[in-house]
Amino acid sequence: MMAQYLALREEAGDALLFYRMGDFFELFFEDARTAAQILDIALTTRGEHGGAPIPMCGVPVHSAEGYLARLIKAGCRVAIAEQVETPDEAKARAKREGTPSSKVLVGRAIVRLVTAGTLTEEALLEPRRANVLVALAELRGTVGIAAVDVSTGAMVLEECAPDQLGAALARLSPSEVVVPEDWPHGPDERISRPRNSFASDAGAERLKAVHGVATLDAFGDFSRAMLGAAGGLIAYLDHVGRGRLPLLLPPVARAAEAGMAMDAATRASLEILESTTGGRAGSLIGAVDRCVTGAGSRRLAEDLSAPLLDVAQIEARLALVQFWRDRPIERAQLREALRAIPDLGRALGRVVAGRGSPRDLGQLRDGLSEAMRLHHWLSGAPDRPALLDAVLAKLTGHGALTDWLSRALVPSPPTERSGGGFIADGYDAALDELRATSGDARRAIAAMEARYRDETGIATLKIRHNGVLGYFIEVGARYADALMAPDSGFTHRQTMAGAVRFNSLKLHEEAARIAEAGGHALAAEEAHFEELVAAVVAARHAIAATAAALARIDVAAGNAERASESDWCRPEIAEDAGLSITAGRHLVVEAALAKAGERFVANDCQLAEANRLWLIGGPNMGGKSTFLRQNALIVLLAQAGCFVPSSAARIGLVDRLFSRVGAADNLARGRSTFMVEMVETAAILAQATSRSFVILDEVGRGTSTYDGLALAWAVAEAVHSTIRCRCLFATHYHELARLAETCEALSLHHVRAREWQGDLVLLHELADGPADRSYGLAVARLAGVPAPVVARAKAVLEKLEATRTATGGIAAGLGDLPLFAALAAEPTPASPEQQLAEALRDADLDALTPREALDLLYEWKRALPKPKH
Ligand code: ADP
Repeated sequence: MMAQYLALREEAGDALLFYRMGDFFELFFEDARTAAQILDIALTTRGEHGGAPIPMCGVPVHSAEGYLARLIKAGCRVAIAEQVETPDEAKARAKREGTPSSKVLVGRAIVRLVTAGTLTEEALLEPRRANVLVALAELRGTVGIAAVDVSTGAMVLEECAPDQLGAALARLSPSEVVVPEDWPHGPDERISRPRNSFASDAGAERLKAVHGVATLDAFGDFSRAMLGAAGGLIAYLDHVGRGRLPLLLPPVARAAEAGMAMDAATRASLEILESTTGGRAGSLIGAVDRCVTGAGSRRLAEDLSAPLLDVAQIEARLALVQFWRDRPIERAQLREALRAIPDLGRALGRVVAGRGSPRDLGQLRDGLSEAMRLHHWLSGAPDRPALLDAVLAKLTGHGALTDWLSRALVPSPPTERSGGGFIADGYDAALDELRATSGDARRAIAAMEARYRDETGIATLKIRHNGVLGYFIEVGARYADALMAPDSGFTHRQTMAGAVRFNSLKLHEEAARIAEAGGHALAAEEAHFEELVAAVVAARHAIAATAAALARIDVAAGNAERASESDWCRPEIAEDAGLSITAGRHLVVEAALAKAGERFVANDCQLAEANRLWLIGGPNMGGKSTFLRQNALIVLLAQAGCFVPSSAARIGLVDRLFSRVGAADNLARGRSTFMVEMVETAAILAQATSRSFVILDEVGRGTSTYDGLALAWAVAEAVHSTIRCRCLFATHYHELARLAETCEALSLHHVRAREWQGDLVLLHELADGPADRSYGLAVARLAGVPAPVVARAKAVLEKLEATRTATGGIAAGLGDLPLFAALAAEPTPASPEQQLAEALRDADLDALTPREALDLLYEWKRALPKPKH
């Protein structure tokens, strides 16, 4: 056994090896230690190897999924080694090979690698989250990206420049990334695979083979980098599935500029799918999602991750939301119906991957029938928007398949297929007969028990069944003697403490009838199962399209539901560079305040070409960040095709969205935070266009006051005058207000606050004009800083302010600073030493009197900078 184990262990590579032994998966050596710790199960030992006991732990096969889920979550990969022959087959093999049967070992093989990105099991997947596997390949400076959600088969191919890879991965948020070995990019925990599996021509061939087509033209236009990535992806799936590929739908090419661009920092700071604390709670999707199906929530997550840039597409989605918004009664009925629909896409994924159960077939039957019912109902609705018609068309066409599944399956088929019992009575006459036979035999056995009791006079005689003996007759030990007699018609089988077990010829015959009929019935059910699976596999594309259509309807109805809950509006999408939001709200902050019984103050935002940069001042905690983010989120929601939390909104399409938060907020990240802040800011200056929307929150805060102010000043100028995009810039540097003197499209705003009877009242209301003062000390008092400390700070502040009045403050003179661009063009002024050298060169010594020469020497000496000590 050890040799077999070690060979499989070697093959499993860096994965833990689940080694099947009877009803358990056992783990040995280091695997056992790792798993026992993660799973918190007992670590024991078994036998020995090299003189030391072998550490071992195990999990029961029937509950293995739960353990697998925990191991995968903890970042492990698991190789499943199953018994691939029965003990009888192993014995027969031994006979053929001439090995003594005592030495024979049941053959085992790794049948699958379970990895985070290749899961299909319901228990291992989060219903509301896509599970994305990504493969990357680089070809002549372009990175090809192949992404698939193995649980539903959706596959997208795209490409990007290497420096855009981070943003693309942030959008896709994969749970596993596969790269060619020795390729230096991608996330740290990437999985390396042999380079040759990423060859583009082989990739194209693999795709063609998977989809049974001679050319990929019908699917779209794919670059060589994309095909290389696709090849690497399919090769990896082949590797982990041991030759059995999961469901793969035809690939869709995603154009580089297909949607609104957002980089990883922006996504993180806007907390789109996850809040900074890591969960769905507190994130944008957590506050928006009212979908009633897992597939709907996954679709919405994708919409929010990749907002659109195409007005027609956005309007199509909005019209569908509007349709449901205007029909509250039908919407409620629809949502009720959708709620009952099983997760078609994932059931299909399991069936195609060869891991489907009878229950999955039942789910497909129920889901497809319900989809057809929805089709009939909705096709009659008046004033249907175009997108509704388009998705309705995808809901039908499964009549023959659902009829078949309905006839073949029992109403609620089991998850376990090996036990049979899922094919309906009346579907197959031969199966019915086999069932009748074993039913007869069971009844005969029950009658036999009564007869034996009569005949022997033993009222407690029982006919029982177990896995080892099969059927047997059992009596209490004190009655056993009578049955032991040679002519009793019973044969002794086993003596237990207190009971003795017997067989009889008649019982043996009936038991054999049951076993035979049962075996044949199981085989018949198995054959029907395979047939049904084949029918589903053949219809996989149409079923996947139905699942996608249902998800789209759910997203629109869910968004309509959300919009009517809080009175959201339909945004108007424009092609200009304006942004006009009336009474906008931050839905996450609003929800948090509502819980505390507080009211959110709505604020307007009006940006236009001639007034495109708002500089926002005001006290800490005054609502600046909230205002910045709410406007970015409204833009994002609008372009994702959702209604938005405001009373009116007109959004000029945004090509790239940037959100930056000054470093002090990110101290927990532990890197040189100011460096991070500057790297992220540099990215805006390099990538933003005049169609972009940028929110900058306290940029420059991560360094000293002078540096910070200088950087904030320069960044604001560059955004205003060079990039010329729409921008909201929150800052506590009053001095920046002077930018308004030179930047014509910059205006000053502040969040209002009032001191009332010595207390600070934050009004969270945006007003025009510069902030009058910082209220820092009042905020400190509000935050509970002890009174003596605040009093001392006040004294210090008064001193500082007196100096400021005398000198004009740290920004004195900045008002005359030439603009950013002009400044950059200006030559740097000469140093005093250079000026001196210049003067020396120019001096006409012959024309000087000795007195003048001496004066000049004094003057030069004075001009020299003092030496530093
Ligand atoms: P700043 O960026 O100015 O320091 P924040 O935007 O972080 O302030 O807001 C601080 C807190 O004020 C928020 O957590 C929220 O509780 C409250 N707040 C912000 N904006 C509003 C608003 N518009 N209406 C009501 N409360 C608000």
